[in-house]
Amino acid sequence: MNNTDITQLRDELDKINLELLDLMNERGKLVKKIGEQKESMKQPNPVNESDMLNQIINHNKGPFEASTIEHLFKELFKADLDLLEGGDSKALLVSREKNPDDTIIDVKGERIGDGKSHYIMGPCAVENYEQVATVAKALKKNNLKLLRGGAYKPRTSPYDFQGLGIEGLKILRQVADEYKLAVVSEIVNPVDIEEAVNYLDVIQIGSRNMQNFELLKAAGEINKPILLKRGMAATISEFLNAAEYIMSRGNGNIILCERGIRTFERATRNTLDISAVPILKQETHLPVIVDVTHSTGRRDLLIPTAKAALAIGADGIMAEVHPNPAMALSDSAQQMDIPMFEHFLKELTDHTLLHTVK
Ligand code: PEP
Ligand code: MN
Repeated sequence: MNNTDITQLRDELDKINLELLDLMNERGKLVKKIGEQKESMKQPNPVNESDMLNQIINHNKGPFEASTIEHLFKELFKADLDLLEGGDSKALLVSREKNPDDTIIDVKGERIGDGKSHYIMGPCAVENYEQVATVAKALKKNNLKLLRGGAYKPRTSPYDFQGLGIEGLKILRQVADEYKLAVVSEIVNPVDIEEAVNYLDVIQIGSRNMQNFELLKAAGEINKPILLKRGMAATISEFLNAAEYIMSRGNGNIILCERGIRTFERATRNTLDISAVPILKQETHLPVIVDVTHSTGRRDLLIPTAKAALAIGADGIMAEVHPNPAMALSDSAQQMDIPMFEHFLKELTDHTLLHTVK
């Protein structure tokens, strides 16, 4: 074959490429037209696709193998869906792209996400009425509104204190009502959500359950704010998708909580991923808080990390407070006692006044 022949063949190839392009776009126009008539076209339809593929493969005379043709057409079908979905519909509901305005979560008048700093404080676990009431009194005295406490504790060891369950929720509710506070507590089982809504103002989904999809779906079905903690080994994208599970079921009242991720570092219990805060604030419209207790596991780091969290744009801070940390049934090494808590708060409020970062 001489050079002129090859040039001629290449010209023919170029011509067919352009014809294919025109045909593909013709096809795209048809797909769009059908999509306008039929909403259901916007979902993948495996039965339809398989019928079309069979027909195409039966028609194939080569030289391409059936598997190659199948692969090429499957790509075309994927492109059909993209075409039908249009530009921004692929954006997550939790994304700023979908909703540019900040979401503010109103918990009994405490408006998380309003640009001010909010505090969610209380013991790791609910142990008894007295213990919770002592912390609630300290919160009230310091004009705080949001009380936390675990009733269902997801403990690493099955031999550790597992929490008081529903009794714990009852104690939280009683104390919160007596001191006019709002209460946040973790639920670990989807079947408990229905009853928990009677006692709680915010339902927490913990780090270990961030990808418990049945729990996320159940949280999406209720009309209560959800505090969703980042999984200890979850990427930001996985975290956002977990929030999307809740929001796509109809519950958009979600507070995101960075609580440290697992790294090789052993100096702290987890590694506080501080840059996750501005990333989450940029990429989502949801409020973002930082749990300084579980991210550091160290009392000496609570004030500096909380300052850093507020300075970098967090909407609030979660930290554990116990009347007698040494006797606590869980996380005794990292909880603050009441005087420490008051010092913590003073340091932070002074800091916030000095650095009006928002
Ligand atoms: C908690 O907040 O009580 C808790 C168990 O935290 P995490 O899920 O972040 O470990
Ligand atoms: Mn704890």
